[in-house]
Amino acid sequence: MNKLENPIYVTQPALPPLEEFTELLKQIWDNKILTNNGPFHQQFEKELAAYLGVKYISVFSNGTLALITALQALRITGEVITTPFSFVATTHSLWWNNIKPVFADIEPNTFNLDPEKVEAAITPQTTAIMPVHVYGNPCNLKEFQRIADTYGLKLIYDAAHAFGVKVNGDSVLNFGDLSILSFHATKVFNTIEGGAIICQDEKTKQRIDYLKNFGFAGETTVIAPGINAKMNEVQAAYGLLQLKYVDENIAKRKAITENYRKQLANIPGIKYMEDMAEVEHTYSYFPIFIDAKVYGKTRDELYNELKKNNIYGRRYFYPLISEFPSYRGLTSANPANLPVAEAVAEQVICLPIYPNLDLESINKIIETIKSYSINI
Ligand SMILES: *Cc1c(COP(=O)(O)O)cnc(C)c1O
Repeated sequence: MNKLENPIYVTQPALPPLEEFTELLKQIWDNKILTNNGPFHQQFEKELAAYLGVKYISVFSNGTLALITALQALRITGEVITTPFSFVATTHSLWWNNIKPVFADIEPNTFNLDPEKVEAAITPQTTAIMPVHVYGNPCNLKEFQRIADTYGLKLIYDAAHAFGVKVNGDSVLNFGDLSILSFHATKVFNTIEGGAIICQDEKTKQRIDYLKNFGFAGETTVIAPGINAKMNEVQAAYGLLQLKYVDENIAKRKAITENYRKQLANIPGIKYMEDMAEVEHTYSYFPIFIDAKVYGKTRDELYNELKKNNIYGRRYFYPLISEFPSYRGLTSANPANLPVAEAVAEQVICLPIYPNLDLESINKIIETIKSYSINI
């Protein structure tokens, strides 16, 4: 096969029209307000809450600081049960708060934290559960709430993959005590860097707003050792513009997903996710799972073959967080405790997906996967 001239990366950021952005920049130059809850910041929070269908949202300079601040806002200490099958920031946010991560295994069909395994991992030191809606698939919301209520635990969702996702018409962000979004350049909705915390009442929103601004609650009042995690006016203006185009971008992602599914359907040993009936998906990732015995090549062999052809998938998530040096010494990080996560991490490749991924590129990707199989 001919090597592609232009590399296809796993993602490419969706950018708003430059002319429209420069108009907003002019307004910022006129306002001379660059940060500290300026007019664009206020408008962005309002419009974002309306778009997502949530009551209270506080925007941040990035998703990791939102995660760290969420744990501070609820005064989480001791142990938190979380998933090894995520981006490292999920567990790092615990480390930065001096909280001990306790890893529990994932479900084989959704790749989300398994509620049964979570319940079995609860100790007297457990104060919270931090699941991730992996690839935007909603976690078992009901079970996690039941466990949180039964054991008196807080429930914080890392919803970095779940922008705009709805369950039976309701935002997935309305579940649990807090949810965290990331607006990093690689996500479905980006503000270059950025993030948010969604909470369920005004008092919590107020506390989060204090914490992201050094703990200032007034000119001379500092209520806690807060951090600086504010979103600036340039990002907020850019975000407002992005909101105008996000539905169009999600529709393009959906079309690409459907095309991938159709073309991959008859390749033995390649599995992919289907939509869930009650869920409105936003198609943040397109992972495939390789059964090496049936496909005839291992995941890493296919990953490298794609690379040779200038196609850059990503092994999300591999290695597991529990295998990094900072965490592998934990009892719960033992691979024997995480058999499902271990297996999935050896099978997955996320294929390129972004709004402007063209048909020709998709066909090249499929062709490469097909021609490399021993069975076709
Ligand atoms: C992207 C991501 C984060 C971190 O967000 P940043 O905005 O990059 O700091 C956290 N958790 C998950 C699951 C992510 O995918």
